[in-house]
Amino acid sequence: MTQYEPVIGLEIHAELQTRSKMFCSCSADYSNAPEPNTFICPVCTGLPGAMPVLNKKAIEQATLVGLSLNCSINEFNTFARKNYFYPDLPKGYQISQYDLPIASKGWLDILDDTDSPMRVVVRRVHLEEDTAKLAHEKNYALVDFNRAGVPLLEIVSEPDMRTVEAALSYATKIRAILRYLGVNSGDMEKGILRFEANVSVRPRGSSELRTRTEIKNLNSFRALTRASAYEIERQIKVYENGGEVVQETLGWDEAHGVTISQRGKEDAHDYRYFPEPDLPPLQLDRNWINSIKNQLPELPDAKNRRFMEQYELKRREASLLTAEKSLADYFEEVVSKSKSSAKTVHSWLTGEFMRYMNDSGQTLEDITLSAAQFAQLIDMVTDKSISGNSGKVVLNEMLNAKRNCDPSQIVKEKNLAQVSDTGFIQEAIEKILSDNPREVEQFLAGKETIVQWLMGQVARATKGKADPNIAKDLLVKTLEARRK
Ligand SMILES: [Zn+2]
Repeated sequence: MTQYEPVIGLEIHAELQTRSKMFCSCSADYSNAPEPNTFICPVCTGLPGAMPVLNKKAIEQATLVGLSLNCSINEFNTFARKNYFYPDLPKGYQISQYDLPIASKGWLDILDDTDSPMRVVVRRVHLEEDTAKLAHEKNYALVDFNRAGVPLLEIVSEPDMRTVEAALSYATKIRAILRYLGVNSGDMEKGILRFEANVSVRPRGSSELRTRTEIKNLNSFRALTRASAYEIERQIKVYENGGEVVQETLGWDEAHGVTISQRGKEDAHDYRYFPEPDLPPLQLDRNWINSIKNQLPELPDAKNRRFMEQYELKRREASLLTAEKSLADYFEEVVSKSKSSAKTVHSWLTGEFMRYMNDSGQTLEDITLSAAQFAQLIDMVTDKSISGNSGKVVLNEMLNAKRNCDPSQIVKEKNLAQVSDTGFIQEAIEKILSDNPREVEQFLAGKETIVQWLMGQVARATKGKADPNIAKDLLVKTLEARRK
């Protein structure tokens, strides 16, 4: 039987977080609009005679994104009208870029499904405007133009991905880069970032590109992976049954887990692109492009390499932190304030701290714990003032408190200070051994694993306050003494 391989390309739509819209001075912050149709003007509602004016900040942000994706920035680029009729498009066309986009021919290195590095070619990055929002009611639809004209960046990859995992890895990395650059919040629930997957399949080993389908408006990583996987399976079945895949635009039905045909796919000529007569070509100055280049921050890959070197972390360990710039920054701040090793800080941050964030559904922005106090707590465990378990209790207490509080204060309040007083621990051990003669027999008969169980009893009897290393030493010594 023929083995098939998927061929996936992604188009990523990212709204740019400028203050005003792409071609007018209306606020682009439409999610904070007091009411529908309040952030509007003759330009973004497409009234006759209204003239568009380019948003410089949007050009800057698009250039930053192009540079961070290793693209050539086209010093000469143009705007074009993409004509189609839909009620969310007041002008009857969208101002976009067609044959001369702002950036093209870049690449992004990602890790594929086997964790091997691979390169995805970025075909183009172009600027356009977002559409209005439609709300479909039973017998009518409502239109809100607050979003119409918000700067939108489209990042188009070549169909270089061969697995759903690779597509996910690419999408995740683009999102991280956009967040690093501060040009997009990455909020997929609100549609500020959305994906379109172009999917086809072909016999493994072949280099042909077969008919593809385009799945629109994927608003989460989960939707991206599920919809692509579904579409791959569907197309393979079509070929296996002797059929042909039809080129079309699909929607994704999250509830039923299926793709649905929306319309036959338009080709470029269906949009009757032509140069936008109301905007002159955009001529970028080389020195200006260089000044934007100088604004590029340290991006995830570079940060990852530095973290591996500077903090002696493994690649996976480093990437847990560098996936989010705010988390990477927080880590570095805690390390700089702590006397413990970077490895220790890493394990606290990616362990108990992240568990708290996952369980409570909070993000780093919601966390009020200062790096200094987190560092102080970690150091208290490192210097054995409290046990690791007590450290976790104190950390959760501090995170829940929603205020900055001194960890040593909580230790005092909860009476968690660790005891390394051997007399106190020895007393507890003696009592446990005399209460559990059967377990002592088992140890003497060679069952050494029983030590773990006895350690549990020690922890219980001392309410977790006994220094576990000292306790274990004493316990084993006391047990061994009974051999004679
Ligand atoms: Zn406007």
